[in-house]
Amino acid sequence: MQKKRCTAIVLAAGTGSRMKSDVAKQYMLLQGRPLIWYALHVIEVSSVIDDCILVTGAEDISYVEDEIVERFGFHKVDAVIAGGKERYDSVYHALRAIADGDITVPNKDGYLFIHDGARPFLTEEILVRCYEEAEREGACVVGMPVKDTIKIADQNGYAGQTPDRNFVWQIQTPQVFGTKIITEAYERFMGQRDALAADGVRITDDAMVVERLTGHPVKLVKGSYENIKITTPEDLAVAEAFLQMNDSNL
Ligand code: C5P
Repeated sequence: MQKKRCTAIVLAAGTGSRMKSDVAKQYMLLQGRPLIWYALHVIEVSSVIDDCILVTGAEDISYVEDEIVERFGFHKVDAVIAGGKERYDSVYHALRAIADGDITVPNKDGYLFIHDGARPFLTEEILVRCYEEAEREGACVVGMPVKDTIKIADQNGYAGQTPDRNFVWQIQTPQVFGTKIITEAYERFMGQRDALAADGVRITDDAMVVERLTGHPVKLVKGSYENIKITTPEDLAVAEAFLQMNDSNL
């Protein structure tokens, strides 16, 4: 069977306020390279991903084009576009850009791999697992079963429920969907988002949009415990340690 077209949407439009740094976290140096370099490098050499849209802050577009895409020769990056206020706004901008033909080769019947640029430890194995699962299921997201016991707190901060941790997963990215499924889900969501927000629904990942707005099942695929998101300064120290461990891989 012919491989379907796969486009990565790499999100780097967050402000990184929890990092407490003047430099946007996605451009902070990790072992001499900008954080965003790591995911883009895996995408660049991947046999799964054909092209990529990079979403960044409006004010960072020319910096990213010159200092990241050109400088490091990321040829799969077809467009650098401006994100929005929330993560889901940034994803929606990318979906619109894809539908409007901002990528060189249209992706109408393939898959979209939505990935947090702040997760440097993406691997080719994860991308392959996602592609295979997306072929079977049409929608899948990467995650790992939690190692700790999780408690759902009640309103007053007391331990409420304790779900069986065999069934509790920590969700990562990539989150992978058929182009039609995710585009349709986001179109519906953007039409109803004020009503959903008024109901207290907080959308924090793409699977939620698909689950709530289409009912299409989303399969969980194993990522890795290293596939962390760099959010706070201590995450950078962990990332440095992982890089030292895996030095020979890059
Ligand atoms: O804020 P959070 O940690 O969930 O961000 C996850 C990813 O989404 C990061 O890579 C961040 O740059 C991106 N993001 C974005 N646009 C936003 C908020 C976050 O592209 N408005």
